[in-house]
Amino acid sequence: MEVVEKHRSNCTECGQCLEVCSRYNDLGLLDRLYGYLEGRAEIDSDSLLRCLTCGLCKDACPERLGIKMLISPARQKWVSENGLTDRQTMVDPEAENNLFRKIAELDETPEYKEGSGSVVYFPGCAGTYINKIMAKAAIELLEKAAVDYTVLSGVEYCCGAVSAGAGDPGPIHRNGPRNIEEIRKRKAKILITACPGCFKAFKDIYPRIFGELHFQVLHVSQYLELLIREGKLTPETTLKHRVFYHDPCHLTRGMGVYREARSVLEHIQGTELANETPENSACCGFGGGVRVNYPSESLAVASDRYRAAEKLGCDTIITNCGGCMQNLIEAGKDEKIMVFDLTEYLSLACGIEIKREDSRMVEFVNKAYSLCISSYGRPEDL
Ligand code: SF4
Ligand code: SF4
Repeated sequence: MEVVEKHRSNCTECGQCLEVCSRYNDLGLLDRLYGYLEGRAEIDSDSLLRCLTCGLCKDACPERLGIKMLISPARQKWVSENGLTDRQTMVDPEAENNLFRKIAELDETPEYKEGSGSVVYFPGCAGTYINKIMAKAAIELLEKAAVDYTVLSGVEYCCGAVSAGAGDPGPIHRNGPRNIEEIRKRKAKILITACPGCFKAFKDIYPRIFGELHFQVLHVSQYLELLIREGKLTPETTLKHRVFYHDPCHLTRGMGVYREARSVLEHIQGTELANETPENSACCGFGGGVRVNYPSESLAVASDRYRAAEKLGCDTIITNCGGCMQNLIEAGKDEKIMVFDLTEYLSLACGIEIKREDSRMVEFVNKAYSLCISSYGRPEDL
């Protein structure tokens, strides 16, 4: 297998990938993955499922290899041989146990404006069903800046990126062409995504599979920075906080986007940014299916982000991803440090009121996990 040959012939077994990885600690993993991918050996589920897909190992590797480049094809092989588990199908928009449909049955889903605007806001499944305040804040900001926008929301438009990360590329192939068509039908010039995963799907994966999209794709942090630069949004309220920007893995390492969110924060009076670059950034513990496969360990990884912020003397963490928000909120219920999505924080700086519903969000998402996954145990129950 090409990926195995490339890895084996370039890997010096220096172990630098493991030094940054919060989930694995033995180099024997590489041999287990080679053996499995070459069809010489079976593999244990922990070797495949513990990975957060955070990409830190690739960044740390002098040869730009890392471990994830083997885990991703190994997960796909495992799915093609064994089928999908309920933990994997729950992010498939057509599956009976789809997580977001379950949440919609439990709780109200906001109705968003469908209009003729040439800017399409795409809250994604997380923004539509789980982290609704993040999406509402983004929409309030679009209103404030008088943007001619429309919203495309609902599980029927799931981008498919999370399923692909779990080893199932099916939803990308099913939903991708339809999503592109829906956006084109609206004559969109710009698509703004709330979620770094949707951003990767539209900006990187879809064009590779389906060809040029003919509309611009921006993550919400990039669009907000543009609105501030053009003078359409002016943060006038002073927010006196020393803030830690938590880089979402799929945005920073996955797509190289990290400057714009920081620039937005630098425009807010009274706000002091403690980490001006993504150096030493790390995962929130949510990704790669780890939140549902290893709930307590996932939240322990999120707790480390509070310690990193504390070390820099911060009283606030800002991030820009529904998954990061969910994990940081759930891990932070006894923490003194506050956590906001960038859209929420900027809304406050623009005089827009934000009504957070953290405990309600955590309650509903855990209820929905229990309905979607057999033998799901909440972190505190484990
Ligand atoms: S850091 Fe790169 S070269 Fe070193 S062991 Fe890991 S994959 Fe191999
Ligand atoms: S992607 Fe992240 S969790 Fe997975 S092996 Fe690399 S560093 Fe570890």
